[in-house]
Amino acid sequence: MELQERLNEVRSHITAAERQAGRPTGAVQLVAVSKTFDADQIRPAISAGQRVFGENRVQESQGKWPELKAETPGIELHLIGPLQSNKAADAVELFDVIETIDREKIARTIADEMKLQGKSVRLYVQVNTGLEPQKAGIAPDDTVAFVDFCRKELGLSVEGLMCIPPADENPGPHFALLAKLAGQAGVEKLSMGMSSDYETAVAFGATSVRVGSAIFGAR
Ligand SMILES: *Cc1c(COP(=O)(O)O)cnc(C)c1O
Repeated sequence: MELQERLNEVRSHITAAERQAGRPTGAVQLVAVSKTFDADQIRPAISAGQRVFGENRVQESQGKWPELKAETPGIELHLIGPLQSNKAADAVELFDVIETIDREKIARTIADEMKLQGKSVRLYVQVNTGLEPQKAGIAPDDTVAFVDFCRKELGLSVEGLMCIPPADENPGPHFALLAKLAGQAGVEKLSMGMSSDYETAVAFGATSVRVGSAIFGAR
């Protein structure tokens, strides 16, 4: 199957899942996750009309996205991988959305960088819903206070929450927990769902899904 066909298939599955959940068509944004694929492999997705992309690594993204963004206006780039403080300046410069704010230090560094560069980047807080030690993200119990801290202490506007459920568990309860925390924290957006579970995520209220291999193929 060609990339364009796979992309169309994912889009139609999202539309069907929206309908089934009684949600309006277009309620869910598709973030096409292009990590490990190079500019030539990403261009067909852009030609097919895809404008929103996700990447895991700042350095890898610097090697392809400045060029791709220059070619096509209106690209929206999301950072969905862990962020280190020493990459914060580059991340603020290149990305439109950072989905992985998960501790005070990085929140502070991002706030400082945005001031320095005079650029505002949209932000999500990553929640470690499965409390997995190897995974990034703030603990569920600390989420509301952390969002509050970002807003009140740092003046950041946090627009959503993001999670990556444990690979070996039913994702539904994790999606439900993220939605509940978003309600408590007063944020509107929910970034949840990947190739294997994005339709479930739509049913649980995802406002964006991050789909890689179902579009670009195996990595
Ligand atoms: C790689 C990645 C995805 C996409 O995963 P697929 O299973 O290829 O769809 C989504 N979210 C994050 C945070 C990722 O690192």
